[in-house]
Amino acid sequence: MAEKDKEELRRKFSADPDRYYKVELFTREGFSRRRCRGCGRYFWTLGDREFCPEYPCSTYTFLGDPPTKRRIGYVEAWKLIESFFVERGHASIKRYPVVCRWRPDLYFTVASIVNFQRVEGGRVVFELPANPLIVPQICLRFNDIPSVGVTGRHYTSFCMIGQHSIPTDGQGYWKDRCIELDFELLVRAFGIPKEEVIFLEDVWLGYGAFGYSLEYHVRGLELGNAVFTEFLGDPSNAVEMKEKVVDMGAGLERFSWISTGKPTSYDTTFDYVLPKLLDRCKVEYDEELLLRYYKQSAGFDYAEGKTPIKAGEEVDALWRKIEPLQALYTLLDHTRTLTFAIADGGLPSNVAGGYNLRVILRRALSILERFRFDITLGELIEMHILGLAQIYPELSEHRDEVKTILSVEEQKYLKTKERIAKIIEKLKRESKPLTEERVITLYESEGIQPEELVKHKIISAVPEEFYKKVTEKHLGVRVAQPEKPRFDLNGIPPTHLLYYVDERMLSFQARVLKILEGRYVILDRTAFYPRSGGQEPDLGTIGLSRVIDVEKQGQVVLHLVDKPSFKEGDVVDCSVDEERRARLTRHHTATHIVNGAARRLLGSWVWQHSAYKDVDRARLDITHFEHLSDEQLKAIEDLANRVVRANLSVVKETLPRGEAEAKYGFRIYQGGVVPGREVRIVNIIDWDVEACGGTHCNSTGEVGYIKILRSERIQDGVERIEFAAGAPAVEYAQKMEGYVKAVAKILGAQEDKVVQVVDELKRGLDEARRVKRSIAKKLVNLELKQIAQEAKPIKNLMLKLNDEPGLDDEYHILFGEAAISLYPNLIYIGLAVVNERAKVLVFSGSEAVKSGVNAGLLAKALSKQIGGSGGGDAKFGQGGGAADKVKELSAKVEEIVREMLGGE
Ligand SMILES: [Zn+2]
Ligand SMILES: [Zn+2]
Repeated sequence: MAEKDKEELRRKFSADPDRYYKVELFTREGFSRRRCRGCGRYFWTLGDREFCPEYPCSTYTFLGDPPTKRRIGYVEAWKLIESFFVERGHASIKRYPVVCRWRPDLYFTVASIVNFQRVEGGRVVFELPANPLIVPQICLRFNDIPSVGVTGRHYTSFCMIGQHSIPTDGQGYWKDRCIELDFELLVRAFGIPKEEVIFLEDVWLGYGAFGYSLEYHVRGLELGNAVFTEFLGDPSNAVEMKEKVVDMGAGLERFSWISTGKPTSYDTTFDYVLPKLLDRCKVEYDEELLLRYYKQSAGFDYAEGKTPIKAGEEVDALWRKIEPLQALYTLLDHTRTLTFAIADGGLPSNVAGGYNLRVILRRALSILERFRFDITLGELIEMHILGLAQIYPELSEHRDEVKTILSVEEQKYLKTKERIAKIIEKLKRESKPLTEERVITLYESEGIQPEELVKHKIISAVPEEFYKKVTEKHLGVRVAQPEKPRFDLNGIPPTHLLYYVDERMLSFQARVLKILEGRYVILDRTAFYPRSGGQEPDLGTIGLSRVIDVEKQGQVVLHLVDKPSFKEGDVVDCSVDEERRARLTRHHTATHIVNGAARRLLGSWVWQHSAYKDVDRARLDITHFEHLSDEQLKAIEDLANRVVRANLSVVKETLPRGEAEAKYGFRIYQGGVVPGREVRIVNIIDWDVEACGGTHCNSTGEVGYIKILRSERIQDGVERIEFAAGAPAVEYAQKMEGYVKAVAKILGAQEDKVVQVVDELKRGLDEARRVKRSIAKKLVNLELKQIAQEAKPIKNLMLKLNDEPGLDDEYHILFGEAAISLYPNLIYIGLAVVNERAKVLVFSGSEAVKSGVNAGLLAKALSKQIGGSGGGDAKFGQGGGAADKVKELSAKVEEIVREMLGGE
């Protein structure tokens, strides 16, 4: 949303403060409403202030002078806030994953309210698992990377304390109670004097909803923002919500910071590791100096390549001390983000959200290198897991996975380093300065960090907003716009889906409601499964017509038939092709089984990326960081077949979305977000649970047998596994067996000896080739002696044509090369027939080339004569054509060469 729209909305809400902003607390405590003399915005205060608390009207005044009675550490701050709200009737819930699987437009959870937003029929809905609640939600944001570790307050991940409530009968509360609680938290729990708390009027425009908000600030630091989401849609087209939402978000990082008054918020956020780390990495921490520096620069927006130090300071000395410290802060931020992201199933890659993870990972590695810090990523991860265990105990369960992924990425980085060093050497020799575009390309396609280019003095500074530019593309929306509906289905009721009522029902009667374009049939009910969720459609018959394709538009199923044998209003007998359905169902069920096997064997980062199920094979694309080896594929296949033999029950149930998520977690969204209030859960008991609308067997035994056919890498971080299940798997095994039998028959060997026999044959063949080559060499030496007599003189040159049957291209190459080095004025042309194709080989000695005989062109001209093509360079050319025309060609060779030399 543009800043202009926000400004306009703010003016609108501030024009009626009694309706929107005035809460009971303000009246009771005697807050007065003021207009900022600097920027004109409105704020509420108990003190006597003329300026609003936001930069540049105010700056941080708490650094070195905190307004609280005591100092509160990071983890302790959460415990304090948690017990405050729990004592006042809130449920404290566990954080949601930072990889956002429930909203199609986001890769990462960017705010606590995102946890509770779902999309239903294109509209956003809010659902709270408890009301009211609080949550320590880790949020990931990648739009300020260069400011992270530098400004004192920017992060790629931070903990948003979410305080959420929906006022309904007997539950939840609205703005009066919210502000009352937040004020009490600051004053009572944190001991901040009342007069220090300022509320600033603001607005908030979010995903499909908006409202007004009160930001609360203390000594220039914004601690939280209480948003009162009251309207759906956008300001030009809004409806009041039936259930309004309190969306208060506050940075935990700031709550402990305000109580310590340390130079940066990193000093308190990472208090569990920083002292140890400073010591190990031998970085000096001069608090007095830092306070001086940050008092001056905090609140200023940091732009890349610029330092906010005022002139006159001893810039160099200051910078020498601050730079390594900022590098440490950055390192801590990036590794904390990676710990959460990978623990929640995120995978660094070159595409989509994974791209941002790789950006910060490579930044972290290059910091370690540049500053020669004596610590590894693995150790840093360990420190985060331990230090945060009281708030996020779940991290320790994923310790090994996080470390595995990081070490894989580190190896990849080291591999590219050598290549990078070479490119940098080359760039150093270039005289032209690099354009910004080039710097971006070097980063994106070669992985060269701009800091590296600065270090080698190839560029003077990191281009402004560099990281913003490279990460922006990968921040958001991955939702494709829905295709324009093909048919106008207005007034047609949703098709009753019989395959959900009883998957075994394959014959049924239905009424023909409509026939579109003469061939698309709409029934009142159907057992035909339409193409969706990667599963191909059912086929069969409607009346006497053949069903060729089935698809769904909205809630209506469209059956494409070859030729309707009925008319609208008729009741018809329908029949689904049983064998086809069974095959699709087995393949679909096998997809769930293979997915579960891959996840167990490879790691928790394995998610279904996409899937496709056809009649004779299926494929599952999973997120994984390397190409699967034959051993890994075999292990997946073995495990999958064990699940088949265990004959586990497959239970299908439809549950309210919130209940399904609470019961099974977000793993259910393997196939993406389900856009409805209810989800159909397919539960392979003790193996795999997914939200899925396809057709599935009732037990894994029905799948019969799973055979993995092949795998391939389809994009960075995504591996495709192709497999067959049931009859097609057996057919595949039989086909392979047929190949082995055929080979055995040709070899006259037993089937189990085929490999051994082929291996022996191969070795024999290699040996024969070697012998042939040495005989040819001897022959060449002999023949070379006669060439001077045999060659035909043309002008100052000699032409030797050799079309003797039985010689092959290898011989001609051996001979031609030797001949032209001995006789610079020789043109040697070899014609051979190999595997029933003619081969033309032309060699032109250095004198011959000078006289105008280009071997490549000559080969081309000769090949053309026999209906083929050829080419090459000046000295050597080759081509080919029809074998039966070789004789004809031999007769013409001399004429063609003469032509090339410019006739007689
Ligand atoms: Zn102001
Ligand atoms: Zn499924």
